[in-house]
Amino acid sequence: MLAFWFKIPLWQRVIAALILGVILGLWWGPDAEQIKWIGDFFIKSIKMLVVPLIFFSLVSGVAAIGDLRKLGRVGGRAMILFIITGQIAAWLGLFLGTIFKPGSGLAKDAINKGETPVPNETTAVDMILSIIPESPVQVMADARVLPLIVFALLVGIGILMAKEDGKPLIKIFDSGAIVMQKITMIVMELTPFGVFALMAWVAGTLGVDALQALGKLVFLNYLGCLLIIGIIYSAMLKFIGKVPVIDFFRGIIDAIAVSYSTASSNATLPVTLRCAQRNLGVSKSVSSFVISLGATINMNGTAMYLGLATLFGAQIFGVELSWGQYGLIAILSTLGAIGAAGIPGAGLIMMALVFGAVGVPLETIAFVAGVDRIMDMMRTTTNVSGDAAVAVTVASMTGELDKEELISADDV
Ligand code: ASP
Repeated sequence: MLAFWFKIPLWQRVIAALILGVILGLWWGPDAEQIKWIGDFFIKSIKMLVVPLIFFSLVSGVAAIGDLRKLGRVGGRAMILFIITGQIAAWLGLFLGTIFKPGSGLAKDAINKGETPVPNETTAVDMILSIIPESPVQVMADARVLPLIVFALLVGIGILMAKEDGKPLIKIFDSGAIVMQKITMIVMELTPFGVFALMAWVAGTLGVDALQALGKLVFLNYLGCLLIIGIIYSAMLKFIGKVPVIDFFRGIIDAIAVSYSTASSNATLPVTLRCAQRNLGVSKSVSSFVISLGATINMNGTAMYLGLATLFGAQIFGVELSWGQYGLIAILSTLGAIGAAGIPGAGLIMMALVFGAVGVPLETIAFVAGVDRIMDMMRTTTNVSGDAAVAVTVASMTGELDKEELISADDV
């Protein structure tokens, strides 16, 4: 029995669990919440890995790049791709919102309001200051990923600058990264159970009424995300990365399933890293660097959604927007996506940043909160696929991609 279970490739077990979870949830209804703890157990186990994994992988990744000039080449290309795809995504959200008008003609009272998350008034300056780790240990204890990345990058750069004197530390970080990957393998075996429970919970508890009232917004969120994945990422992979697109998506199936069910880029990070290194043929240095960074700052699904949701709110409340404000929304949506943590519902909180700047009432957040989870799942899948796509593209541009491995990978 056990041998039979392990003989089935993990991704097939995960996809089966996803489908069976939805079926169970639809049949069981809201009571499916009873098994959500299994999903929480899975998410907690995988989150346990995030801080040590980022720290070890990123430092060893930077150190493995070898010299500062090459680090600049890899980092610069990744940042340019992050920003360009983020801008295109935000404008796509604005385009879909303008053409299909998801908020116009919507009776405000017909919408079941969800719980309103308390939007903290984040300004751009707060965001900049929050990336500086005042105490690295505190940052690790609080699992604040962005300042942790800054610290890890600095340690990696310090090691490179120290040359011979930094070598003993490289060994320690390399070995730490390998050990963390082994632990990831153990935790990954929980994936089918976690995905099953989370999908049953989402399918069982999602209010059908809320879905009907906000159906157009949910539909557009999915459409936008699919366009980003199907057109923007595919074009980037094909024309800039010059890699076969189908093999890429085959290689990240595990990451897609985990991101969709957990709605958290951070929680998916160990899986994304594993897919990139084992199935996509991205070198250890580039994957550790680009994917750890991307999980926090590269969120194209979120950027698209912020643009779309702002128009949704403006349409509900009859707020007129000028072309200049469109441009402002696009910039703030990209910034908001960079600032959003890779956790469920982070995009919802970032709405305050964009809405506030163009006069859309914050009440809109309460309207969408009820169905945010189902949209968040797709945004997160888009975000995570984007990290892997940029990693493959940058690796290909800098000669750090093993194309044979990408094509031949039999995903396990
Ligand atoms: N949940 C998303 C992520 O982790 C962020 C968001 O809420 O848009 O990537």
